[in-house]
Amino acid sequence: MTRHYDLVAVGGGSGGLACAQRAAEYGARTAVIENGPLGGTCVNVGCVPKKVMWYAAQLAHAIEDASAYGFDVSADGHDWATLKAKRDAYVKRLNGIYENNLSRREVGYLRGTAKFSGAGVLDVDGERISADHIVVATGGRPIVPPIPGAEFGITSDGFFNLEKMPRRVAIVGSGYIAVEFAGVLRALGADVSVFVRFDSVLRSFDPMLQQGLMQSLTDSGIEVVSGFRPAAVTRGSAGLDLAAEDGRVFTGYESLIWAVGRKPNTATLACDTAGVELDAEGFIPTDTFQNTNVEGIYAIGDVTGRAALTPVAIAAGRRLGDRLYGGQSERHLSYENIATVLFTHPPIGTIGLTEPAAREQYGEATKVYMSSFVPMYHAMTEHKPKATMKLITVGAEERIVGCHVIGDGADEMMQGFAVAIKMGACKRDLDDTVAIHPTSAEELVTLR
Ligand code: FAD
Ligand code: NDP
Repeated sequence: MTRHYDLVAVGGGSGGLACAQRAAEYGARTAVIENGPLGGTCVNVGCVPKKVMWYAAQLAHAIEDASAYGFDVSADGHDWATLKAKRDAYVKRLNGIYENNLSRREVGYLRGTAKFSGAGVLDVDGERISADHIVVATGGRPIVPPIPGAEFGITSDGFFNLEKMPRRVAIVGSGYIAVEFAGVLRALGADVSVFVRFDSVLRSFDPMLQQGLMQSLTDSGIEVVSGFRPAAVTRGSAGLDLAAEDGRVFTGYESLIWAVGRKPNTATLACDTAGVELDAEGFIPTDTFQNTNVEGIYAIGDVTGRAALTPVAIAAGRRLGDRLYGGQSERHLSYENIATVLFTHPPIGTIGLTEPAAREQYGEATKVYMSSFVPMYHAMTEHKPKATMKLITVGAEERIVGCHVIGDGADEMMQGFAVAIKMGACKRDLDDTVAIHPTSAEELVTLR
């Protein structure tokens, strides 16, 4: 027997849940198929537990600064196990809330692993499920480099399982996860080395952000080892030893974290049985409307290989629901000007083009405004980390095509500026906005 739905989402993470719930709000009969805990990567091994750890790290920095504000406090260590238990309990609560949300909206919840069994048909652990619309939202998983001894290392998933803080940690990678985890571990007292293939972290971000973060990583005591390509990992007498392709060996790590990117969960989906094409890396290519090459089959979120961020998966899923069942035939997600934050210390907020990309695209029409200053909070503290901001404009009207900030508050600052930039704001619009004083954000409306 085959159970039939109007729409089925494969994957109960950010994208799948959002799409199935939105379609159900319009009256469609929908279901989510999930083989792990509800909420997917973000809730269980991503944004949520990561942000809890980031808050802990922020507190560690605040305790360091407290004496500068007249407090007589010191941190007597940090109880990682207690925080982990509370964090796990919070995530579990969220899993329950997500399940309740599904039943409240009358969205079916099928526990199991789905694979295609022809177009429009899925096999879920032996049960046949068919649907008019199938949305693939299976997300991704961390990459572990195929080198000898790689299994001695852990990934971001393993990081969230750690019962105690490793004292000496090697992190291989130079993207979001490498820099966020490095900051957390260092702030909580670990000795951290970050191994990057080239000479900087965050190479795809604006150079100002790369330099600013490199500075703050080293200022906080994190070692950045450049030109490192991993060749092998062995367990030595003092811990894990990490060998580079060029022969260098770095020894004695209690923990090694691979943070070298993620790959899509498509290998076991049997996409070929439905005729769904994958690209060379296994991602599912989609058009503007999240359509795959097969009619009635869509892909959203990390599995598409585009802007792997939770709000992107949610927005793509909701818009697809609006389009299929809400009578909004042109509704789709624009992937332009998506703001993103790196939860580093200090954080980074960024949107739009980098300066090199803007200059390549707009040449002489590009005009850049920058400011670098010590935020007032640090007038009292001994260390004086700078906040740095950059606004990239084009043309006589100085339309803003990029905005990049590294500094305290950048994480909360960027959302509002993203609205303005999405609406087509020009430099003059910021100039005409009265500043909020004293804040760091006011610098962005007073740039000259
Ligand atoms: P997922 O959330 O990964 O959901 C996919 C689901 O599909 C999973 O639950 C999986 O179990 C299930 N599944 C897979 N295959 C099958 C199958 N065959 N059958 C049934 N179920 C299946 N983004 C941000 O915006 N902000 C952040 O701060 C942030 N921090 C992050 C920190 C870390 C450490 C990581 C790893 C990611 C972070 N992200 C962050 C990225 C964010 O988590 C992802 O972009 C988001 O979860 C993608 O949602 P998705 O729905 O595409 O996939
Ligand atoms: P990223 O894509 O951000 O970074 C991985 C980097 O590792 C690559 O860019 C590459 O940089 C380097 N790398 C790749 N292969 C190797 C290798 N074999 N050896 C050494 N270094 C290598 O991936 P992450 O895993 O950090 O994160 C995955 C995604 O999850 C992010 O892109 C982001 O979309 C999302 N995320 C979002 C967060 C947020 O919103 N705050 C937080 C965490 C994750 P290079 O070319 O310079 O070597």
